[in-house]
Amino acid sequence: MQIHVTAPSLRSTVVTGAIVSFLVLPGWSLAHAASGPDGLDPTLSRAYDQAAAAAGAQGIPLWITSGARSVAEQEGMWRDGIATHGSPDAARRWVLPPAESTHVGGHAIDVGPQAGAAWLEANGSRWGLCRTFANEWWHFEVTTPPGTPCPPMWADASVRGKPSPDARGADQSPAIAAIMRW
Ligand SMILES: [Zn+2]
Repeated sequence: MQIHVTAPSLRSTVVTGAIVSFLVLPGWSLAHAASGPDGLDPTLSRAYDQAAAAAGAQGIPLWITSGARSVAEQEGMWRDGIATHGSPDAARRWVLPPAESTHVGGHAIDVGPQAGAAWLEANGSRWGLCRTFANEWWHFEVTTPPGTPCPPMWADASVRGKPSPDARGADQSPAIAAIMRW
């Protein structure tokens, strides 16, 4: 399959998830400022470093495909998402505006390849790292104290939105959270 895209379009594939595997291309990854640990929150950076070391010791491939993003980068992704999905409401399942994205501020990482992400989903809670969204196998945040179980995943980014103490209880499933939003 041939895909010719510019860097901004490629970034939008994070949004759609459609060809996210292309993000692991080493040349592109190295060329992109957000594809790595730069700018991450120290707690997340430390947790990821420890997880990556453990994964490496087991021969599991694991790397960051998108970490901290600037407001301008996230704004671009948000606009791309709206263009791709047709409306802000549809886009919110895959990308949030800068004020709401945990990538802005360095509190989220997207990881690859899928085998590494699966390993992180199974083992990340040792360092507090949890998969956050049911529709994004690649997106992780520190959402639990190290060594404790991860909270339930949100169905997608649209049902989390702006942080709110009432938006998700520890005993609420993502499905219930989704119902509550509507
Ligand atoms: Zn993400």
